[in-house]
Amino acid sequence: MSGKDYVEKDYYKVLGVPKDASATEIKKTYRKLAREFHPDANKGDTKAEERFKDISEAYDVLSDEKRRKEYDEARSLFANGGFRGGPGGTGSYSFDFGDLFSGSQGGGGSGGIGDVFGGLFNRGGRQAQPRRGSDVETEVTLSFEEAVDGATVPLRMTSQAPCRLCNGTGAKSGTTPRVCPTCVGSGTVSRGQGAFALSEPCRDCRGRGMIVDDPCPDCHGSGRASSARTMQVRIPAGVQDAQRIRLKGKGAQGERGGQPGDLYVTVHVDSHPVFGRKADNLTVTVPVTFPEAALGGTIEVPTLNGPSVKLKLPPGSANGLTLRARGKGATRKDGTRGDLLVTVEVVVPQTVTGDALTALEQYREATASDDPRAALFRAAKGA
Ligand SMILES: [Zn+2]
Ligand SMILES: [Zn+2]
Repeated sequence: MSGKDYVEKDYYKVLGVPKDASATEIKKTYRKLAREFHPDANKGDTKAEERFKDISEAYDVLSDEKRRKEYDEARSLFANGGFRGGPGGTGSYSFDFGDLFSGSQGGGGSGGIGDVFGGLFNRGGRQAQPRRGSDVETEVTLSFEEAVDGATVPLRMTSQAPCRLCNGTGAKSGTTPRVCPTCVGSGTVSRGQGAFALSEPCRDCRGRGMIVDDPCPDCHGSGRASSARTMQVRIPAGVQDAQRIRLKGKGAQGERGGQPGDLYVTVHVDSHPVFGRKADNLTVTVPVTFPEAALGGTIEVPTLNGPSVKLKLPPGSANGLTLRARGKGATRKDGTRGDLLVTVEVVVPQTVTGDALTALEQYREATASDDPRAALFRAAKGA
């Protein structure tokens, strides 16, 4: 009994019992068939002898609870696309039994899976390559504050996953895909000869290596289903608008033990009514009065998500002067913070009345000799 037999032979079919047949049912059916095809009762009949061997072989496995379980598992593993191998395999089995059965190898030597597949290991068959999951692209919009401090956001993603009903085999429940006879499970066939031989996907199985006779009603035989999942994704602090960040291993699942793909998230950041952003620094424009700008003073400045800070405005501050509040900016990768850049904007009152008007008129008289445009005209003439 070779490994190939173990996988290709349908012991349930041989005995004519359903896959979920009870031990009693199997025993009863076996006894009936064994009597019918026993060599003693069919002297010289080679067909009956063959049949008797098959029945005995099937019963050997199915009557042993442990071996039956292993057999069922082996067949369902096989059905799970284990056969889809690299190109050009001609009759070589391309799946990684080393991984699948390492747990039961050498287990007792009484016909366990390890023994059964022994022959298969030694064929030097090509091993199916683990396939890395694909990368996934998505977008997310963060508020200004979330981008500054970092945020954990839920991301809903749809991706292709194995069909749940058939576990990705594509076969209707209770049936198993069979190895494609054309490509013997490799999924590829060679055309032409010698140096001109071309390897192309097998047409009979469309490159899957397996043929599904009774397709699963959910996925119609493809074995794939789109699934939606919601993931909590940590967006690091300090992310910029339109930045694309890579989250390693958060993409689509790999196949056959392959690494998962990566998730790329393009981040959009909403603007803030007060604060702006320049790399690690936050920006804010603060109005100041003419007397504050001229005489200097202390101004109170709001910060993002924190208590306000007081800054010293030097006397004679020009409109547009930028002050710096250290450590009140955006969080950096290392946890430190940038600065808050405070730009002063001298506000001109729309209307001036009463004492303010009187004071301002007095100020005008007091400074009448200072012509703010004198330097301008000197420079214009000199040029
Ligand atoms: Zn094929
Ligand atoms: Zn399905």
